[in-house]
Amino acid sequence: MEKIAYRALNGVLVQFWRYYQETCIDMNLDIVEGYAGRRRLQVGESEVGEAWTDGAQYITLRRDLIESVYQGLDAVIRVLLILLHEACHDAASVGTHDHNLEFYERYHAVSLHPEFKVARLAATVLNSITMLARDENRKLHKKTMESASFTEATVEADAPLKLVA
Ligand SMILES: [Zn+2]
Repeated sequence: MEKIAYRALNGVLVQFWRYYQETCIDMNLDIVEGYAGRRRLQVGESEVGEAWTDGAQYITLRRDLIESVYQGLDAVIRVLLILLHEACHDAASVGTHDHNLEFYERYHAVSLHPEFKVARLAATVLNSITMLARDENRKLHKKTMESASFTEATVEADAPLKLVA
């Protein structure tokens, strides 16, 4: 099952980096070469952290964190926010590491920017999981299926909540 979760997450990375880069440019945030570039997603094991990066080439997510996407929407959003956390590191975050002011400014700016579309990214992840599972004749938990179709329907509707009476 890890392969499906990994492929689903990896599939949204192009969009993820696009939103991330556009936001950084929009907010006049520093983009260091190799830093705004698309880092690849790796699977790892660690007893100290759920995720880490070298700040340039890769972001590693712990295996159980990747597999947590099957728990549904909240879990997928948490993984995306952890990805964002690592994306905001422009230096290695292996082991103990610093969160300086620039890190927090970047995280704040990107996470609150209207172009950083967490719901859309999460819907894509959940949708990919259901499609990949179907392709491989794997059965998903009812909760994962419900999360996927609810999220997709909400994002697809893309309509503001309006009171009509
Ligand atoms: Zn960190």
